[in-house]
This record gives sequence, structure tokens and C-alpha cells, in this order.
Amino acid sequence: MNTDKTPPILLEVIDLVAGYGPTEVLHKVSLNISSGQIVTLIGANGAGKTTTLRSIFGQTKIWKGSVKFLGEELVGQKAHKIARIGLAFVPQERSVFPTLSVRENLEMGGYQLSDRDVKERIEYITNFFPILKERVSQQAGTLSGGERRMLAIGRALMIKPKLLMLDEPSLGLAPKVVDLLFDRIQAIHKEDVTILIVEQNAKRALGIADHGYVLELGQIRFDGSGKSLLADPGVQAAYLGA
Ligand code: ATP
Repeated sequence: MNTDKTPPILLEVIDLVAGYGPTEVLHKVSLNISSGQIVTLIGANGAGKTTTLRSIFGQTKIWKGSVKFLGEELVGQKAHKIARIGLAFVPQERSVFPTLSVRENLEMGGYQLSDRDVKERIEYITNFFPILKERVSQQAGTLSGGERRMLAIGRALMIKPKLLMLDEPSLGLAPKVVDLLFDRIQAIHKEDVTILIVEQNAKRALGIADHGYVLELGQIRFDGSGKSLLADPGVQAAYLGA
């Protein structure tokens, strides 16, 4: 009988060297995410956090290294294929189609699904984000910043991802909206979605994370449980405003 209760590794990034054009941004970045975790990646502006997410999602130039999702190599695969195997990415920029309605935006997220599944997922997601239910026929461009962020997350959830990657979801939002968003992120996690979150708001992200990684100049400098990083004097001084 197998008594090993360790959850399987969902995502494994091994010695990733990546960047843009001739510019190398990530210098041998390695990280692991186990199924069921919330993992956060923090670091200063320009450290390479967004580049890490983009690299996992096949949107940068990869020189060396490997990205394995459930054991399958992602390097060299196109983003739409990566999405199909259960990985969703909500980028930092407000990624909604402003002239389309909330419903149409969600439909776009589920373009690979059957009509029946699209209907079911929209029902599920709008129950999850009641404000989207109220605004389902409204043009996305007329939503508030927080509502748009929720729509972008809702759209990513259309494919029922196993891993959801969020790039600075709290950026530019009022504290109350950030509270609501973090509440929803934790609720999504409870629905069996593993989460990788990049945040400038390090205290907030480490507070909900099982594990955190600190990126400096394209390299992982520290990692540990969310709690241990919050208590680490070096992390406090550099990232938590202590
Ligand atoms: P921030 O918190 O400011 O978003 P970050 O840690 O996410 O920072 P990245 O956006 O990954 O950092 O940027 C890492 C480095 O890569 C920076 O020096 C940046 O100027 C560079 N960079 C980012 N995007 C591009 C691009 N499209 N082309 C060339 N260089 C880029």
C-alpha cells in the first residue's frame, strides 16, 4: 500500500535561462509547485517575476532549462496548447476585451469547450463572482478596475485549470477591493485549483502562501514557507518594509 501522502509535483521549473531577444533575464531559475499549494513569487521591480510566468507559459525566448507540468515538457509548446493541458495565466495588463460584454469575454475564454460546457462554466463563474452575474450583459470596458480583474480571472477559469498563474492581481486596486480579490483567490484555491501568484504586495501574498520564492536580478535568492519568509529579517528588510 502506498502511504506516501506527499501531493504530486504539478509544476517543475528547472534551471531556466530565458529572456527577450538578446537579453537574458532569468539566470537558472528553479522552482517547484505541488498540487494543491498556493505559491508566491516576490521580488523588486524588474527582478524577473513577470518573465518567469511568461516563460512558463511559452511567451519568452528560452535558452536553457526545462518547465514540466505534470511531467510534460512545456518548453517549445505554444500557449494555446499549454492552456489545453490545464494551465491558465492572467497577465498583469487588464486582459479583457473592452467592447465585448462580460458574457462574451467569458465565452472567449472557453472557445475550446463545447457549448454546453461554456454555459455551465459561465454559470459557475458568475456564481463565484456575483458582481459579474449582475453585469453579465454589460460591456467589459465599462467595468471598474476590480471588476475587470475579476473578469480576467473568471475568463482564465473557463478552462477549469489545474494551475492558475496570476500576475500582480492587486495592482492599482483600492484596499477593500484587494481584500475581496484575495478572498476570491483563496476560494478558487479551495475548489482544487493550485495557484502561483506574483505580487508586489509581498506581505499579503506570503500571508496566504504555502510556499514563497524571492527573486532577485533573475535568480532565486530565498525560498521557504510563507510563514518563515514573513518572519525572516532579510526578507522583512528588503520586501516587507520593516
Ligand atoms: P515588475 O514588478 O516591475 O513587473 P518583474 O519582476 O515582473 O517587475 P519583469 O517584468 O519580468 O520584472 O522584467 C525583468 C527584466 O526584463 C527587466 O529588466 C525588464 O526591463 C526586462 N523586460 C521585460 N519585458 C521585456 C520585453 N518585452 N523586452 C525586453 N526586455 C523586457
